[in-house]
Amino acid sequence: MAHPPLTLARATELLRTRQASSVELTKQCLARVHAAEPNLGAFLSITEEHALKQARAADERIARGDNVGPLTGVPYAVKDCLNTVGLRTTCASKILRDYVSPYDATVIRKLNAAGAVMVGKLNMDEFGMGSSCENSGYFPCKNPWDHGRVPGGSSGGSGAAVAADLVPYTLGEDTGGSIRMPAAFCGVVGLKSTYGRVSRNGLLALSSSFDSIGPMAWTVEDVAQVTRVIAGRDPLDSTSLDAPVPDYAAQFTGADLKGVRLGMPKEYFTEGMQPGVAKALLAAIDNLKGLGATVQDVSLPHTKYAMPVYYTVQFAEASANLARYDGVRFRTAAEADDLLNLYLRTRADGFGPEVKRRILLGTYVLSVGHYDAYYLKAQQVRELMRQDFDKAFESCDALITPVAPTTAFKFGEKSADPLAMYLSDIYVTAVNPSGVPGLSVPCGFADGLPVGMQLIGPRLGEPTLFRIGHAYQQSTDWHLRRPNSETTA
Ligand code: GLN
Repeated sequence: MAHPPLTLARATELLRTRQASSVELTKQCLARVHAAEPNLGAFLSITEEHALKQARAADERIARGDNVGPLTGVPYAVKDCLNTVGLRTTCASKILRDYVSPYDATVIRKLNAAGAVMVGKLNMDEFGMGSSCENSGYFPCKNPWDHGRVPGGSSGGSGAAVAADLVPYTLGEDTGGSIRMPAAFCGVVGLKSTYGRVSRNGLLALSSSFDSIGPMAWTVEDVAQVTRVIAGRDPLDSTSLDAPVPDYAAQFTGADLKGVRLGMPKEYFTEGMQPGVAKALLAAIDNLKGLGATVQDVSLPHTKYAMPVYYTVQFAEASANLARYDGVRFRTAAEADDLLNLYLRTRADGFGPEVKRRILLGTYVLSVGHYDAYYLKAQQVRELMRQDFDKAFESCDALITPVAPTTAFKFGEKSADPLAMYLSDIYVTAVNPSGVPGLSVPCGFADGLPVGMQLIGPRLGEPTLFRIGHAYQQSTDWHLRRPNSETTA
């Protein structure tokens, strides 16, 4: 590797000790981004000028010693579903090709206030619909560990940009695994925060009752630092929680997990898992026991309904949310003689096949005559799934499960079969309908590719998840491994 890995902690240290300026770090990151792109496909836009302006301001702030925090002057990049004023926000959709947001998302405002430096907007499956980044309306993103394989999705660019060491951390968005899954496939840490922990104001909605924003980075500590900055009540998002945001990293206990009770949901350890994935996970569980945690079997009996519940509600909410992209606002089709044709042409031309499929299915499950059988039923079962988690957390502090049944798959392996693609989300989809947080932590390799473990906590249980993940990283070195450029195509 040509350079030492630039984690957030390392970047903060370099800036604090004046070994590097923010402008220098930013230029280094931009040089890496330019060297990796367009071959990697992680960036939809590189915001060079904007980044250098922010970096210069951060350097002045550091020189003045004015409110300098761990993110001040450190470069990052963000999934292209978060609004950034004056810059393009496309959700990787052609329908938003020319959309320039008039305002910043709340998380972007918070990062700006912390002095963070945004170097670009990251690739994703169109509107967050997908598990491989192959549904991007522009170009697919590759997995830095093996360019013949997908980075996971939908926040594929957010996972790949960290794994390729282009930026120390990124922001992703998780509606049904979109942070945790690419984190696992790319060998990095990713947090799906508790629903409402992080404001959704300025996030282009996919499924409003599931969407959660969270960071991705090499270490749990870095993820915890970013979460602390972006979390909290926001009057512009009525679903954001009015709960104090702890200093997560201050609560770390080194590699000691005495007294922590972990649950292994039996429904998540069934056949169908790639043997190397199961092996890595069981070894991680042994490791956690070695650190003092106790592990017990638990049951989440409604797990078998997680996929149908998730996809039914998600399609329904997506069909409603995406109705706003009608050609009157956001983008207009070149020629249309009447309003109906304007809608039809804009949407036929602007949306990709997966988006169209979901709008149709979502409209169907919400339609008169089908609403009770599908949408209402799914919402009722969703409540049972939530109760499963509540019950499990009466005897456990956190649950441990795989993130995905396999390691990163090859391009084209599942793209022709939507059901096969949906099934790669089998372990991650129950979390979002229940609103609980999930942390994906690298826990080994299978056939040379990263494997992730998922830690699930009760609502607002981020401190426990971070503590467990951090302790695990103190006693393992998976997060120190980097993709070997010689093994990639
Ligand atoms: N794979 C999930 C889906 O296709 C991911 C959605 C998400 O989390 N944005 O719906």
